[in-house]
Amino acid sequence: MSLKAMVFIDGAWLYRNRTSIFAKLGAENGCEIDYAKLPRVFCEDVANHLDEDVDLVRTNYFDTIPSARSSFSTSKQRAFYDFLEKSCGYEMEIHEIDVGGTDGHDETWVKMALGSSLMFYAAMPSAFDAAILIGDDVIYAPMLRRARLLGRRIQLVTAYAAGGVPPAIGTSLIWKSRVSDFPPLYIDDHAEDVRLVRESVMRVCKQCGREEETTWAGPDFFCSNCRSKRSIRVS
Ligand SMILES: [Zn+2]
Repeated sequence: MSLKAMVFIDGAWLYRNRTSIFAKLGAENGCEIDYAKLPRVFCEDVANHLDEDVDLVRTNYFDTIPSARSSFSTSKQRAFYDFLEKSCGYEMEIHEIDVGGTDGHDETWVKMALGSSLMFYAAMPSAFDAAILIGDDVIYAPMLRRARLLGRRIQLVTAYAAGGVPPAIGTSLIWKSRVSDFPPLYIDDHAEDVRLVRESVMRVCKQCGREEETTWAGPDFFCSNCRSKRSIRVS
């Protein structure tokens, strides 16, 4: 029988630490991350470590979005969350926050939502055997200890600090006792694995039927010619 794993992603942490993936790849201006693959990469690590089959039952993602009342444009953020849910199969828990004059990075909600969700599933018989936590914050320590008391195994995923050294004592879970069952994994070590590589394919334009080479993987494809005409019409 395979081991059931659930992945819990602290979206605020992942957003901040995606820069260590870029740095590792020498892509300081950023690159695309393969979010559909990301949870599976760490499941494979757990499987290799235990020499057991691991079944990824769910990926839970937690983040915030500025409320509609604020002046922030959230369409890009909403589209990203939508993509994670519909194209990557993530279970999304997004909280609308009243940001007022701040930049909207209130992470308290993310921590509390992730913690309660992990504990909830940990207390449910046979929901998961192992939780993979992508997000490193000492605030999670008490919750992880209790999940482990319920017999669940915990895999921590963190990121190296600047200079490629492990994260500092006092900020990282990796130095805490009784919070995990495996050596920590570093997201930077998997930079190559989680980088999105778009394959060039020939696709048929939805409008004119012409074939063109593209890396666009979305549902509807329009050739460059039709796209340029369309933008002229819009403006
Ligand atoms: Zn066309």
